[in-house]
Amino acid sequence: MNNYLGVDIGGTNVCFGVVTENGEFLYENTFKTTEFESAEDLAESIQQHLKKNCKHQFTGIGIGAPSVNETNQSMEFAPNISWGEIVPLNEIFAAKFNLPIRVINDANAAAIGEKVFGEATDQNNFAVITLGTGIGLGLYIDNKIYLGSNGLAGELGHTIVRRDGRECKCGNFGCLETYVAKDGIVKTAKEKLEFSSGGSVLNNISPSNLTPIEIMKAARKEDPVALEIIQTVTRDLAFGISQLVNILDLECIYLSGGITKSGNLLKRKTEKHLKSYILPNMRDKLNLRISTLNEINGGILGAVATIHESLVPVSI
Ligand SMILES: [Zn+2]
Repeated sequence: MNNYLGVDIGGTNVCFGVVTENGEFLYENTFKTTEFESAEDLAESIQQHLKKNCKHQFTGIGIGAPSVNETNQSMEFAPNISWGEIVPLNEIFAAKFNLPIRVINDANAAAIGEKVFGEATDQNNFAVITLGTGIGLGLYIDNKIYLGSNGLAGELGHTIVRRDGRECKCGNFGCLETYVAKDGIVKTAKEKLEFSSGGSVLNNISPSNLTPIEIMKAARKEDPVALEIIQTVTRDLAFGISQLVNILDLECIYLSGGITKSGNLLKRKTEKHLKSYILPNMRDKLNLRISTLNEINGGILGAVATIHESLVPVSI
């Protein structure tokens, strides 16, 4: 049995774990991304931490990160991580650990995790959408990950849902991410609270502590302003998803990431809007699901499956 180190680098957290090739976690921990000034700093800290706290050995490292160009194994212009424009993650981790490394886009990692260890084992055309600090998309088309001609496919977060909308970190305006990722949801909440006549539990939370999770909690208790916020967010999310489905005729969309852990409200509302945006002949065939790997970090599992596949070839 081989063990691997899986690292899932996000805008807010870096989750990492030592995992068997069968997907069993032997050790895992989380760091705050902003604690690190560079990827070198992160690699060094993970190495030191594991030396002290983890007795399990591993033979390779799988890394999932946003804005990864898989052809050159680097993170490029990641809007939510400030470690430089081009960050050669493979090179940096290989220099530190002296082991084989595979770097993949975080949402592709989530999709591979879903295919190998999740509910998508029998599906050939599906997508995983990761909702967090940014929005990622892992696309499985004709039973393999779709990378695009430059290894850059999957930037669903930067498709434009409102022309002349909010300014995005990518330099454009009206990107899906500016409405449906963490900061976008909070911004919508602040706008709605400003124009509401009070009567929302969200008014009791200081603006700096307002999070999508708190908003979802309030919505589940039928708070009218929170419900209005979720209505706006899910309509934009459904609009983004419908573009994908109408073009690609996917059989299933998995939602993953922090905000999806808060129950089925997000899924139900998004499903409702999807009905009006997806073409009638595809509408009833599409499944929208919350990823069951959400609680156990599907991104780490996908990164591990990828490095395992490159060292001990199996078909994923
Ligand atoms: Zn953008």
